[in-house]
Amino acid sequence: MTMDVGDRRIEAAAVDLLKGAQSRINVDEKRLINCHTVDVNQLMPIKYKWAWEHYLNGCANHWMPNEVPMHQDIQIWRNGPLTDDERLVIMRNLGFFSTAESLVGNNLVLAVFKHVTNAECRQYLLRQAFEEAIHTHTFLYIVESLDLDEREVFNMYREIPAIARKDAFEMELTADIVNPDFRTDTPENVQKFLENLVGFYVIMEGIFFYTGFAMILSFHRQNRMTGIGQQFQFILRDETIHLNFGIDLINGIKLENPEVWTPEFQQYLVDLIREAVELEVAYARDCLPRGVLGLNTELFRQYVQYIADRRLERIGLPAQYGSRNPFPWMSETMDLGKEKNFFETRIVDYQNSGTLDWNGV
Ligand code: FE
Ligand code: MN
Repeated sequence: MTMDVGDRRIEAAAVDLLKGAQSRINVDEKRLINCHTVDVNQLMPIKYKWAWEHYLNGCANHWMPNEVPMHQDIQIWRNGPLTDDERLVIMRNLGFFSTAESLVGNNLVLAVFKHVTNAECRQYLLRQAFEEAIHTHTFLYIVESLDLDEREVFNMYREIPAIARKDAFEMELTADIVNPDFRTDTPENVQKFLENLVGFYVIMEGIFFYTGFAMILSFHRQNRMTGIGQQFQFILRDETIHLNFGIDLINGIKLENPEVWTPEFQQYLVDLIREAVELEVAYARDCLPRGVLGLNTELFRQYVQYIADRRLERIGLPAQYGSRNPFPWMSETMDLGKEKNFFETRIVDYQNSGTLDWNGV
């Protein structure tokens, strides 16, 4: 039997793969980025145990938005009690999150995934990408449940200046990295890549998202809009892991590429985070022009500064503000160590999934 051209190509590729078997994978050769000596498909042996831990934690926390009952929210949204200012806070946050989640998802699959050459990190990135899809799904579910104007919610990033500025700030950071010619093979480009990771994991997910969580969870604390509140708690729980993975990834890349962590670059990142803090304060002012639920712009300035300091410290940069946490209840909500027992009201427990039914397959 003779082979056609296609078969020859497969044969040649298979021979190449088989040659690779002679050099068994050495765990010490694994690198977070720029790893050309180790096949990116090799998950085991695992070197970055933290990445695998975050992956397992993410899977253990699996949830879907349509598990959350929305009856109470629908009742309150239609009949109150809800002031116009309270409606504004809810709408602005739905508007911000509805598109911000997809920006994070796009950045992950179009910019981050390509350059992270480590299999266990990629395993986590695939899990995170699906969680971002679930988060976007959540906003669609909320819009449908409350019968909101979907055009208004999903267009806010183009119509509300405070949201547009935050999104433009993030999209700018993606633009450089998605250029098909971009490589992480020079110190300048590793810095660019780190800037993207700081922009998304630390700033978007770690700072921009947390003010929204605080605003929406304030309703939940008063037992109002509890469906949205519970969905935001689920999202907060996921985002806490996203943030932790991002910080481990940033610190890992720093450790493996110490030459890029110059004093100038550190100052550049501090300035970037300071700029983001101002964007976030402007957003809070826009959401709370008169203040509601005991929340006001000044408290949010303190809160944003407080969390910015914590994020800065975790990537080895100096705290800037020294503000106190005005919402200690937020850290109680998020600092519960065991993600798995976070909620008592789980409807479906994916950790103990039932037997699969293959009948009819
Ligand atoms: Fe998300
Ligand atoms: Mn996220």
